[in-house]
Amino acid sequence: MEFSVEVPLDADGFVRRECPNCEREFKWFDGATEESPPDWEDPDSYFCPYCGQQAGGDEWWTQAQLNYAEQVALIYAGQAVTDELTGMARTINRQGGLIRLEVSGESESPLPPPLQEPNDMVAVAAPCHLFEPIKVIDDLVEPLHCLICGNPFEV
Ligand SMILES: [Zn+2]
Ligand SMILES: [Zn+2]
Repeated sequence: MEFSVEVPLDADGFVRRECPNCEREFKWFDGATEESPPDWEDPDSYFCPYCGQQAGGDEWWTQAQLNYAEQVALIYAGQAVTDELTGMARTINRQGGLIRLEVSGESESPLPPPLQEPNDMVAVAAPCHLFEPIKVIDDLVEPLHCLICGNPFEV
């Protein structure tokens, strides 16, 4: 079973992330910026701007994003079970026996309301990787770390 979950960007094109190590939230820019080198490819891992720890590219989901994906997954799973039961019921009903299994339930479950992304936090960029801007919380403790190479920098 495959499904996709939409993670919203804020008005400036940033997506909210959470460090798997220090669990603080920041945002990174989604996709390439005008300054990105044409042959630039997203790295396999990133550095947390706060604690400087490195983690794989798919380890930065926020709690809200994970909760949302879980809700969507449950709905898809419920849908898959309902579809299977409906198929079984059709088979049984077609045999014309005395058993009649009916499956009721919504055929299309509503998805949870989409995540919202407020345009908060402060945009900064590490001098060594200016084309990979991030947004960090206001009361930050410097130095910050470059998302790409982990170099410390002051804003
Ligand atoms: Zn961190
Ligand atoms: Zn860098």
